Amino acid sequence: MDIIILGSTGTIGRNTLKVIDSSESNYKIFGLTAKSSLKLLAKQICKYKPSYAVVEKKSDIQKIKSLCGDYSKKLKILHGKEGLCRLASFKKGKCLVSAISGAAALEPTYIAVKAGKKVLLANKEALIMSGDLLLREARKTKSLIIPIDSEHNALLQIISIFGLNYIHGKKSLPQNIDSISLTASGGPFLGYNNRMLSQVTPNQAIKHPNWKMGKKISIDSATMMNKGLEVIEASLLFNINPDKINVYIHPQSLIHALITFYDGSTLSHISYHDMKIPISYALNWPNRQRLSKKMNNLNGTYELRKIKKSEYPCYDLCIEALKIGKNATTIINAANEVAVEYFLQNKIKFTDIPVIIKYILKQSKIRNISNISDILKYDIETRNLTEELIRTKWK
Ligand code: MG
Repeated sequence: MDIIILGSTGTIGRNTLKVIDSSESNYKIFGLTAKSSLKLLAKQICKYKPSYAVVEKKSDIQKIKSLCGDYSKKLKILHGKEGLCRLASFKKGKCLVSAISGAAALEPTYIAVKAGKKVLLANKEALIMSGDLLLREARKTKSLIIPIDSEHNALLQIISIFGLNYIHGKKSLPQNIDSISLTASGGPFLGYNNRMLSQVTPNQAIKHPNWKMGKKISIDSATMMNKGLEVIEASLLFNINPDKINVYIHPQSLIHALITFYDGSTLSHISYHDMKIPISYALNWPNRQRLSKKMNNLNGTYELRKIKKSEYPCYDLCIEALKIGKNATTIINAANEVAVEYFLQNKIKFTDIPVIIKYILKQSKIRNISNISDILKYDIETRNLTEELIRTKWK
C-alpha cells in the first residue's frame, strides 16, 4: 500500500516509519512532509525514496534538494499548505497518516477523507475543529478514519471485538454498553494546587512523565485540555453521548480505555505506553503485526481515580463546548492553541489558559458549520479575538 505521512519528522511520523520498517507487509512511502526538521526529512527521503516531499517554505525546497543529492532529481518537492493539500489529493497514496499538530492538519486531512482514503488520525484538531463535518464526509466517501490517539485506538480495539460495523458510528454501539472511559496520566502537575500551578514554567509543563510528545500536546496534557479534546474526539468518532464518557486518572498510562456494560462488567485495553502499538494497529486494522517483546512488559501498579467536575477547568470547558455543539469546539480549540503559544513564550501564566478559553467561548457567537470554509472562518476569527484579548488584558 502507498502511504503518505504528513509530519514524518515528528514523534508519530518517526514511529510510523519504525513500524513500517518492522512490518512484513509491502508498504511503499509515497509522500513525506516536515515543517522545520529538514535534515531529518532529507535522511528519510534518502532511505524511503518517496515520490513527493512537502516542506513549509519555498526557500526550503533548494535546501532539501542539496541535502538529498542524486535522488533529488527524481523527487517532486511541494511547499506550504497548498503543497500538503495537493499531496493529500493524489490518487496514489491510498493511506494517509495525519500527524501534523494543530489546525494545519485540517484541510489536507479533509481532502484525504473526501478522496475516500484510509486516514490514520493522530491529529485531533482536525476532528475537533470540524465537529461532525469530517465524519459526515467520511460516511459519504467510505473513507476509513482510524484513530492513532492511544485511548481511541484502545477503544477501537475493544469495539472491534463486537464486529467491524460498530466503528465510525455506522451502527450505534450495543445497547448493553453503559459507558466508556478514557484514562489520563494526570500530566506532570498531578497533585499541584492552584497556587503552585500559577507558578509553573513552560519547561516544567512540557516534561510529560510517560509519553514523549510535542510541545503543544504536552501543555494540553498538563492542563487536561488534551483529555477534554479526547472526550470530544471519542464522542464524535464512536457516536457516543458525552454523558456516557468518563475519565479516570491513571498515572501509570498502562490502561488506555475501558468499556462498562449495564451489568457492571468492564473490558479494558492494556498496553505498554509506546505509540508504536496504536500506530501498528491502525496500519494493520483489523489485523495485527508482531512488535518488540519489550512492549509486553506490563509490570506496575494500576491506580484508577475518576475525575470530578470542576477539578480541571480546561477539561470542563471541552465538555461544555461538546454539549453546545456547532462551532463551539472550533472556538475552544483555536483559543487554546493561541493561549498555549503565549504560555510557551512565557507571556501568560499556566493558570491563565482556561480563563482565556472561557472568556472567548462566552464572547463568541455559536453558529452552524456547513463546510470547510465555515470552519476556517470561525478558526481565524477566534484566533484574532484571543490574540487581541491577551494583548490588551494580559500586559
Ligand atoms: Mg491520547
